[in-house]
Amino acid sequence: MDIFAEMKRRGHEQVIFNYDRVTGLQAIIAIHDTSLGPAVGGCRIWPYPSEEAALEDALRLSETMTYKAALAGIDFGGGKVVVLGEPEPEQRELWLRALGRFIETLHGRLWVGEDVGTSAEDLALMQRETHYVMGLPVAYGGSGDTGVTAARGVIAAMEAALMHRHGSRSLEGRRVAVQGLGKVGLELTRQLVERGAQVVAADINPHAVGKAVSELGIEPADPWTILETPCDILAPCALGGVIDAEGVGRLRCQIIAGSANNPLKDNQVAEKLRQRGILYAPDFIANAGGMIQLTDELEGFRAERVRHRVEAIYEILLQVFASAERQGRSTVEVALEMVEERLRLLTDIHRISLGRSR
Ligand code: NAD
Repeated sequence: MDIFAEMKRRGHEQVIFNYDRVTGLQAIIAIHDTSLGPAVGGCRIWPYPSEEAALEDALRLSETMTYKAALAGIDFGGGKVVVLGEPEPEQRELWLRALGRFIETLHGRLWVGEDVGTSAEDLALMQRETHYVMGLPVAYGGSGDTGVTAARGVIAAMEAALMHRHGSRSLEGRRVAVQGLGKVGLELTRQLVERGAQVVAADINPHAVGKAVSELGIEPADPWTILETPCDILAPCALGGVIDAEGVGRLRCQIIAGSANNPLKDNQVAEKLRQRGILYAPDFIANAGGMIQLTDELEGFRAERVRHRVEAIYEILLQVFASAERQGRSTVEVALEMVEERLRLLTDIHRISLGRSR
């Protein structure tokens, strides 16, 4: 990869390669855009097949965080930390604390939360070396798990899509297919059932499905065909990249709204969805609830403010859907244009001098 060309193409400010010669920790920190405020992003620990794959992930995920913050109306930018490989259990604390020290050197340009391969307990270890962590366990002063808030945001996205399509936001009687019953998927299922939706769900982990069936009475489905299940709303809540251009033809839903980051293989898939008449709630808007909760910790956590900001996902999506329909463009294209516009306008007000203190 020509790294500078890629940074230029995506608009990144900074990519930092970190190596600790004693523990062998290798980590890449990507900071995409800090026009609105310090970068925020999760820390992923993953056995990447190559350095290039890790770098690609860091660049892509940090970029998405910028979009997410901008459209959630919060003053933060996009960042990401990826750690290459998996520490031996006895090395884990050392890796995390070494990483914490590297993050501290950025003096708050980046705040880090949990992601695939890391837990809130890992953040508590990192916090021994850096101030700049979000999403600590409640016992450490954090706001706790983000699953409930993230799921609430996805519900708001579904309601906006239903309102746009059918003139009513009610989920009552709607058939929703959920892929992935993890922290967000299971909570989403619970909130859907409470609202009278009929949920069909799948997970590659049979225990997760068993729990949802016994506790919530939902219909189980095959994880290999869940995306093709006939339904009103498809909710991808597992991994990214699950819908490609060819797969669009097999979908049997009217709306897609879920929590997974980047569920579409690329942005052209969004245009294919539009052509098939499937309304897509861009993931970086629908799944912003988790980020809204975490960044609120940095402002002095207020549950009421978090609720208010998560509810706003409904209004933002109504605007995106209406503009996309009016302009005959995909919802992703329109949403990205809104991000650009917000970054441009807010950066521009920084031309106003705050005066000189010395
Ligand atoms: P999780 O790891 O708790 O759950 C993911 C679930 O998906 C697991 O139960 C896993 O077994 C299942 N799964 C994996 N591959 C599958 C497949 N092919 N078919 C069916 N099930 C499959 O993760 P989570 O925190 O619930 O997050 C889910 C998604 O939402 C991720 O993409 C994550 O990045 C995104 N997200 C999460 C949050 C949050 O606050 N947790 C916020 C924003 C976005």
